[in-house]
Amino acid sequence: MRKKIVAGNWKMNKDYTEGMSLFSEVVNMVNDEVQGQQEVVVCAPFVHLHSLVALGKGNQKVSVGAQNCHQEEAGAYTGEISAGMLTSIGVQYVILGHSERRQYFGEDNALLAKKTDVALKNNLKPIFCIGETLQERESGKHFDIIKSQLAEATFHLSAADFSKLVIAYEPVWAIGTGVTASSEQAQEVHAFIRKEIASKYGETVAEATTILYGGSCNPKNAAELFSQADIDGGLIGGASLKSRDFLDIVKVFN
Ligand code: 13P
Repeated sequence: MRKKIVAGNWKMNKDYTEGMSLFSEVVNMVNDEVQGQQEVVVCAPFVHLHSLVALGKGNQKVSVGAQNCHQEEAGAYTGEISAGMLTSIGVQYVILGHSERRQYFGEDNALLAKKTDVALKNNLKPIFCIGETLQERESGKHFDIIKSQLAEATFHLSAADFSKLVIAYEPVWAIGTGVTASSEQAQEVHAFIRKEIASKYGETVAEATTILYGGSCNPKNAAELFSQADIDGGLIGGASLKSRDFLDIVKVFN
């Protein structure tokens, strides 16, 4: 059985006090309500992370993640945060390749390959995001785009390293729009991603890879999406900012 994960991506939301309350609510609700083996990951702004790790200490079901890290180990990069700094405070995951970073911060596959390397070297587990824009889907290029995002940023890894990744399929047109991919559209791409992984690393690695869906996932559509054979959970934006909605999504795997 592949690991099921529901990860929240708070993006640039919640000040420190709000973030502490939201995380405490999530931890309490997970303790009271989660019965399955699913893992919950909360990816919060950098300034929250140290305190969130402390609040979550000892909780086997909840992990803390960052939303980015720099591609170099250390140095004169004013304002940046390294993978090693994140590991040193107990952060376990890092989102890499999010479409907002690709779009607004010019991150490309070559840069993301470096970020993936430095994250793995520092024992962070990347949640590696891929996905096509509306224009790419409408012109029928989505499989090619996804294939190159995956290959150019992650297929240089050894099988042992690739096995540490979580992949997230996030169609850009579904992010923050309220328009989710249909379960058939999402499953079709997830199956394609798994096939690509199998052709590079073999069936065993592909079958063990957790592939999340992200993009307007909410308590109403999560059960249908997560029931698909190749969808192993979700990367949740807006709905992760409300503890009740987030937990209702997490509990799909109860
Ligand atoms: P929404 O759930 O708000 O569409 O965001 C998805 C996302 O980008 C998660 O990383």
